[in-house]
Amino acid sequence: MAGYTPMIQQYLSVKEEAKDAFLFFRLGDFYEMFFDDAINASRELEITLTGREGGGNGKIPMCGVPYHSAENYINRLIEKGYKVAICEQVEDPSAAKGVVRREIVRIVTPGTVMEAKSLEGKSNNFIASVASASGMLGVAACDLSTGELYVTSFRDSPASMIDELNVYMPSEVVGDEALIRQLSGDAAWGRQIPLTERMPAARERVAAQFGEAQLAGLQEARLKAVSVLTGYLEETQKRSLGHVTTIKSYEPNQFMILDHYTRRNLELTETVRDRSKKGSLLWLLDRTGTSMGARLLRRWIDKPLLSKNAIDRRLDVVETLYRDLILREDLRAELSPIYDLERLVGRVAYGNANGRDLNALKSSLRRIPALTALCAASGSSVLQELVQDADDCADLADMIETVIVEEPPVSIREGGLIRAGYDEYLDQLREASTNGKKWLAELERTERESTGIKSLKIGYNKVFGYFLEVSKANLSMLPEGRYERKQTLANAERFVTPELKEKERLILEAEDKMVDLEYARFLELRDHIALHLHRLQRAAGMIAELDVYQSFATVSAERRYIRPGMTEGFEIAVAEGRHPVVEAMMDGEPFIANDTRLSAEEQRILLITGPNMAGKSTYMRQAALMSVMAQIGCFVPAKSAVLPLVDRIFTRIGAADDLIGGQSTFMVEMKDIQTMTEKATPASLVIIDELGRGTSTGEGMAIAQAVIEYVHDHIRCKALVSTHFHELAHLEDSLPSLSNVRMAVEESGDDVTFLRKLIPGAASTSYGIYCAQLAGLPNSIIGRAYELLDETEDGGNRASHGAGVQREAVRQAAAAYSPDAATAEPALIAESAPDKSAGVVQLSMFEEA
Ligand code: ADP
Repeated sequence: MAGYTPMIQQYLSVKEEAKDAFLFFRLGDFYEMFFDDAINASRELEITLTGREGGGNGKIPMCGVPYHSAENYINRLIEKGYKVAICEQVEDPSAAKGVVRREIVRIVTPGTVMEAKSLEGKSNNFIASVASASGMLGVAACDLSTGELYVTSFRDSPASMIDELNVYMPSEVVGDEALIRQLSGDAAWGRQIPLTERMPAARERVAAQFGEAQLAGLQEARLKAVSVLTGYLEETQKRSLGHVTTIKSYEPNQFMILDHYTRRNLELTETVRDRSKKGSLLWLLDRTGTSMGARLLRRWIDKPLLSKNAIDRRLDVVETLYRDLILREDLRAELSPIYDLERLVGRVAYGNANGRDLNALKSSLRRIPALTALCAASGSSVLQELVQDADDCADLADMIETVIVEEPPVSIREGGLIRAGYDEYLDQLREASTNGKKWLAELERTERESTGIKSLKIGYNKVFGYFLEVSKANLSMLPEGRYERKQTLANAERFVTPELKEKERLILEAEDKMVDLEYARFLELRDHIALHLHRLQRAAGMIAELDVYQSFATVSAERRYIRPGMTEGFEIAVAEGRHPVVEAMMDGEPFIANDTRLSAEEQRILLITGPNMAGKSTYMRQAALMSVMAQIGCFVPAKSAVLPLVDRIFTRIGAADDLIGGQSTFMVEMKDIQTMTEKATPASLVIIDELGRGTSTGEGMAIAQAVIEYVHDHIRCKALVSTHFHELAHLEDSLPSLSNVRMAVEESGDDVTFLRKLIPGAASTSYGIYCAQLAGLPNSIIGRAYELLDETEDGGNRASHGAGVQREAVRQAAAAYSPDAATAEPALIAESAPDKSAGVVQLSMFEEA
């Protein structure tokens, strides 16, 4: 440091406290950055890099942003995953001896932004922490903007930890050194967010935040995760966080377990293709009127329930609203004007709520009585129970009403936000200021009269205060020595009088006092509200819950869903089920409903065959989505449905896009299958699409068969398995609880039609070459493929069949699809003759009883 100027020395010592952040160092009206920070920020923000003499060798790289537009630059850095430490001058520069004292007042990080602009209303912004203790891994997640804090733990299993982290989609993770290292090196993680190593905060600090009583019951790894988080929040926020006080601790097995891959695959909250909300289950079910409701809905979808009672309770409420259109509409009307109470409460606690925020809080609270009245009058005991003892916080709303004007300004430091009549002294000051201004107007009038200068006027500027202004042209009319000359402009002169200066003093003094007093009164009010955060958070929770029920009921009624019967048994019995999202995305065409019936003995596994695009994966996902929907408490798309509690859904859907960290698709698939064999229970639902695709046919088929046998004999859970190895159909003979089904396809005239109907029996060909043809491969390739397939069959080295059928299908397809084909003969595609050797038998399971 030697050699640097005192200011740069100060900079360097502050920088030591925030090595992993950009340091925004306040210098007058700018935040300046120096050294590497300056070089990097100029690149990231596209601002000019300059230099400054700082006493070292040569110039120090420097760049800066004006303080009044800093938020924008900070947001851009945060969005790119950086942290920004804000360093302010903490003493009055005029009072300072030597360099003004400067301190970091806050470190903004992706997981802890509080500024409304960077927060998306409909989703949470979580910061997560991980910690290990006594063979357990703790995971905590906190949304600083709403004050929610969740924590859970796992037996030492990094995969479960990563799955759980992924539920929260955190924008930042802090944790034990070892765990953070593990995470950054884990191929399955793959998120580009800051991972920060931190030690847990001392127990007293954590107890000061949450109270000893809450900590006492926490299992060690959970406590440690919460402590790491507390320490990091203290370090970065440097203020009390009165809204983060409740720890919601849960057991992983309280909820249906969905690994990251399955969530993605089922497109629960975003689509696989472009990661957009549109096209996801969340998108379909979101008819919420408030941001709180939208966020809660998302959390419910992330964590389907496993308790029949809890699910039935939700379904009861939804049913009440489902049946009562008027009530539903009334509720929606009351809900939609409600602001984001949770985040408003967060801002109050955090100390950045302004007058407009308090008014938004007030107008939202004012809606609660109507909401509770609607529920109380609904005649439904579950709804009545929900709003029973609801606190409308009317005292707080009233208080805001008495203090804050109808339309306060954005700033809380410039006055104009406290109502007249609230504070006597404030009223007096206001009067003094108004009187002073009246006096000025009067002065202007009398001076115009006595001098005869019509254009004489009184003005104000920050440097000279109030003045009388006379234009050059009229100066001659002004008696010499009448006023005191103050300032000369190009075409006017400005004057003052002792009397004017005296009034000015009174007016400015009153205004200064007014602004200070208004600010103090505002803080008093805000601090008072901050004493009641718990009440406000409870009210917000009730509103959010009601909103989600309303949303479920609205979608369910519009889309003709039905209430599922939840059982603790094994069986799934769905009549005429539909895929909710595919159905909603189809325009015009009807969605073809299919039954799903799985039972412990007769039929636990369906082996589904049929050509590509026939609807196999849609059918399988539909079953999974139905369970998710039911277990979050929503109605389901079917004619009738009896559903068991599913503890876990595994999906393995062979897609080309899951090359994670350079692993081959096949390796990923095998790892997923391994997890499934380890974790699945009889109460799980397993969905495997195109098993064994990534290796040679012989091996792929062998693995597929072995996996199916294992699921059948050892896991004994419900499973839907699709395969292009139609040869596997013989498994039906050896596995009593497995049934062959296929997607019906029909050829009539020139048209190839997918009937989308699940029918018993296995397809007798894979239609691979047929599909290649449909995909537009050159005829020479298709022809050669058939030659080769024929040779294989003639050689008799594998029990394959179907070349004939396929050839016929392709011939037909060519006729149907190619514009030059003149004629087309009808041909058989799916309904080929049952082949005994492939174990195809007709089943009666889908026939009406
Ligand atoms: P597969 O898995 O057999 O290749 P998909 O399940 O991907 O086929 O279905 C292909 C397309 O067919 C879907 O994108 C959807 O548009 C349509 N589809 C699938 N099932 C149905 C159905 N039951 N009713 C109407 N359209 C369907």
